[in-house]
Amino acid sequence: MSDPLPKTNRPTREEAEDAIRTMLRWAGEDPEREGLHDTPARVARAYEEFFQGYEIDPKTLLERTFSEVEGYDEIVLLRDIRFESHCEHHLAPIIGRAHVAYLPRQRVVGISKLARVVDAYARRMQIQERLTAQIANTINDVLQPHGTAVIIESSHECMTTRGVHRPGVSMVTSQMLGVFRTSSDTRRELMAMLNRPAASEY
Ligand SMILES: [Zn+2]
Repeated sequence: MSDPLPKTNRPTREEAEDAIRTMLRWAGEDPEREGLHDTPARVARAYEEFFQGYEIDPKTLLERTFSEVEGYDEIVLLRDIRFESHCEHHLAPIIGRAHVAYLPRQRVVGISKLARVVDAYARRMQIQERLTAQIANTINDVLQPHGTAVIIESSHECMTTRGVHRPGVSMVTSQMLGVFRTSSDTRRELMAMLNRPAASEY
């Protein structure tokens, strides 16, 4: 994916609100009626929140690492990272969970940073395959671990509330890099870790 448009090339907030007014009229509404009067401003603010990821360079989130790990050299897995995204085809929500693992090469990163990398890419217009690959590639490029694995399970509202109307369907994608790709033992170990009860269930 290309980098986000520079801010100078983007429409103004006012133009964005006008566009939302157009959509309201197109759907059959009167944007001037009381209940809708502030809607364009609210939708614009919601967009800022939904698509905040364009303002973040995910690589910078992983710059601070720790090396005092007493020789820890096994898999680090952060699982069940809830995220919200939007599909780029319908701008409908994608709600899901990401599991992110890496096998460190001496240095580890704060675990909250992994969740922030997920958010930085989720808060963009996405398809799940790319979201999965971007998270994995960024962790792999910046931390240069022995391997990186990202598994995402999600529900796409463009499938549940429109089109084929199939609630309950989930989509699962995974991107395995380094040893997670080349070693079936390491992959099996990851799967065993994923299948353990969650800490919240202890
Ligand atoms: Zn869609």
